[in-house]
Amino acid sequence: MSFTIHGIGVSGGIAIGRAHLLTHTQLEVQHYDIAEGELAQETARFDKAIQAVRNELAALSDHIPDNAPPEFEGFLNLHLMILNDNTLSEVPKEVITTQRCNAEWALTQQAEELLTQFDRIEDEYLRERKTDVMQVVERVLKALTGQPRAIPAPLHPEEDSILVAHDLSPADVILFKQHHFASFVTDLGGATSHTAILARSLNIPSIVALHHARHLIREGELLIVDGSTGVIIVSPDTNVLSEFRLRQEQWQLEREKLKRLKTTRAATLDGTRIELHANIELPEDVVQAKENAAAGIGLFRSEFLFLNRDLLPTEDEQFESYRRVAVEMDGLPVTVRTLDLGADKPLNGAQRYSPNPALGLRAIRLCLAEPQMFHHQLRAILRASHYGKIRILVPMLSTVQELNQTLHLIKEAKRSLDQNDIAYDREIQVGGMIEIPAAALALGSFVRRLDFLSIGTNDLIQYTLAIDRTDDAVAHLYDPLHPAVLYLVASIIKGAQKAGKPVAVCGEMAGEVKLTRVLLGFGLRQFSMHPAHLLTVKQQVLRSDLQEVTHLAGRMLKTEEPEKLQGLLERMNA
Ligand code: PEP
Ligand code: MG
Repeated sequence: MSFTIHGIGVSGGIAIGRAHLLTHTQLEVQHYDIAEGELAQETARFDKAIQAVRNELAALSDHIPDNAPPEFEGFLNLHLMILNDNTLSEVPKEVITTQRCNAEWALTQQAEELLTQFDRIEDEYLRERKTDVMQVVERVLKALTGQPRAIPAPLHPEEDSILVAHDLSPADVILFKQHHFASFVTDLGGATSHTAILARSLNIPSIVALHHARHLIREGELLIVDGSTGVIIVSPDTNVLSEFRLRQEQWQLEREKLKRLKTTRAATLDGTRIELHANIELPEDVVQAKENAAAGIGLFRSEFLFLNRDLLPTEDEQFESYRRVAVEMDGLPVTVRTLDLGADKPLNGAQRYSPNPALGLRAIRLCLAEPQMFHHQLRAILRASHYGKIRILVPMLSTVQELNQTLHLIKEAKRSLDQNDIAYDREIQVGGMIEIPAAALALGSFVRRLDFLSIGTNDLIQYTLAIDRTDDAVAHLYDPLHPAVLYLVASIIKGAQKAGKPVAVCGEMAGEVKLTRVLLGFGLRQFSMHPAHLLTVKQQVLRSDLQEVTHLAGRMLKTEEPEKLQGLLERMNA
């Protein structure tokens, strides 16, 4: 029977393929029978893996890196405790014997049971330890299979498969870069969650916030994913299928046509120059940025270099990554955002308990709490600045004290490079992300101390409207057209212009083509977005009459009525 499921489309286009289901995200393993005579050998294999992980954790404890957060040791001990608990180290052996199954399967059965029990725990701290259990289980699986974590292979070719998951972390999505799925869809997540942002970077149709898709869809079922409308059609009939195949072709044709704009200068009808920059997560994303003629990198989310690994990248490794981007961009600006770890991008092996991660020790707050780690990153960025036009961007500023402390640490990093006679750009610019309403409302004190601003609308909306970006239950409340959001964005742009400082928008709003004219009308001249959106936004810029959009945007700021705002937006985009 055919039916539809509705969610939030986060990356446009149409994908048609077979469903490939993921259970507890990473805990996907093979299931096979073990012969009676080989059971003892299988339990011994399990024991060996447990012992290997014990040794691994002990070795990590003995060699804690200088720049590891202080909690690191505590987490290792916690993981050791979880590992040594009978539930994970003994019961799976009973499962192997009674069910005559392989060790990986026995372990994940046991883990699934344990994780379900965690869901019922009332104490939030204990409930949150679920992630630690998963990490320990993953370590044991790795020891059993000798393989790093991987997305399991689907029955059909990847290109014809649509991954259906309950949830995917940003770290999981990064793993996707090695795969070629036609699309992915998840039950959880909001339109500006990092998982959704990464979905855009994969440039495949994707949907989040489907709530129950993982339960409603069966392995191998035929799916149509319409990433623009956020709709999945399960088991479509032949008429619907051919209709969507046609739409898919049209979509691809449009994209081909857009490529012609690559060499066109981005300017409005009256010739006003607009700078269109790209957001990237990993150095290799530069290729896509260049393919779409980005005028620079407006946001390099450097924290992605820190995900999917047990130990922090060294200063040299970071330096190489930043240098590579700087060199490849060949003199165009590269804005490296300092680490925005925490919240939905926790450091492996060093997660802290936070009752409310989005409001917790995240981004610059975490960096200031970990000066050693921050010092290494700052040195790496500064060293790379010798090879191109690098700028430093500080995320999540909420107080001037944080900014002063950061500026002081940048000076310290420069001093240490001077002492080692290492070259760096002495004129390197330091900018701040304005993404917390407090900073937007007290802009003067920030803008005075900074060289440029970048508006992080994803967080600005999250914190202004009090909606967790990652929570699918409130995803429908995400509204860039909320009068409070429009007011803040417009006033930040105005504030920066008054102070004579450049300002960009680097949140998802910058890549939403229906909002391009609103931002132009507010006076924005620099946009930074995922490379896949650059040419669509350029096309809109080329067709925009600045005088008209400025007039209509001004009227938008004078109304608080949602219908009137919607009407003005439609007029603007007519
Ligand atoms: C933002 O908040 O708008 C932003 C660009 O940063 P991130 O999405 O990485 O939090
Ligand atoms: Mg942000």
